[in-house]
Amino acid sequence: MRICRVAVGDELFFGVLEGLDAQGEPGEGTVIALLEGHPFGEIVPDGRLVRFEDVRLVAPVLPSKVVAIGKNYLDHIREVGLGEAPPEPLMFLKPSTAVVGPGDPIELPWQSEHVEHEAELAIVIGRVCREVPRERVAEVILGYTCANDVTARDLQTRDGQWARAKGFDSFCPLGPWIETDFAWEDRAIRCTVNDELRQDGTTNDMLFDVATVVEAVSAVMTLLPGDVILTGSPSGTKPIKAGDSVTVRIDGIGSLTNPVVDRA
Ligand code: MG
Repeated sequence: MRICRVAVGDELFFGVLEGLDAQGEPGEGTVIALLEGHPFGEIVPDGRLVRFEDVRLVAPVLPSKVVAIGKNYLDHIREVGLGEAPPEPLMFLKPSTAVVGPGDPIELPWQSEHVEHEAELAIVIGRVCREVPRERVAEVILGYTCANDVTARDLQTRDGQWARAKGFDSFCPLGPWIETDFAWEDRAIRCTVNDELRQDGTTNDMLFDVATVVEAVSAVMTLLPGDVILTGSPSGTKPIKAGDSVTVRIDGIGSLTNPVVDRA
């Protein structure tokens, strides 16, 4: 099932995509069944169908927090010069205000001369949980989506910690929807910028897998429905500039595209 959030007129609704084409992509016959309330717990359609082409997708979830895992792919640790592989999952936070949706602009801040894309698999939490043992992690995951952990690389190096470098408004594009039927293993993660393939990784290269990451994060902080955990970026992260179009694609989920602009 693919759960999205859409703007219909001035209102926002969760919905379920129906009538995807043979490739699992939205097509002419695709509609969205709007939901009553939220998709955490029982999913209840409200009876209305809207045509996919008549609505605008927004970020598929509004997290109370975005927890990100750093240094989770060895080739990325090496290319950025991040030192040794960590002995346990390295966590940092991105503010909820960094989240934007498909098609929303990534705004380059004046404080940085060097902003990079990081294509990542995002876990969407489905229920309140803490201290989740790895064998029960599947029970707390609603689904998965694509994320771009946009990073001001110069500020990351200069500051020594990452709140500023990772925390600007628009530095966490999410979408296009939440795929609930998704096995995370052996999935290609790609990032293209203006049709140039920049990142071409696989989830098999994660140092800490999904179960390990959720177990570790939930051992630190209570996770709430809609919270998002980013699982780290493979290599190939490179600078983006105003005018670029950045697409994160994960096989089995879909594509998340955002234009890049200078922050006004
Ligand atoms: Mg990252």
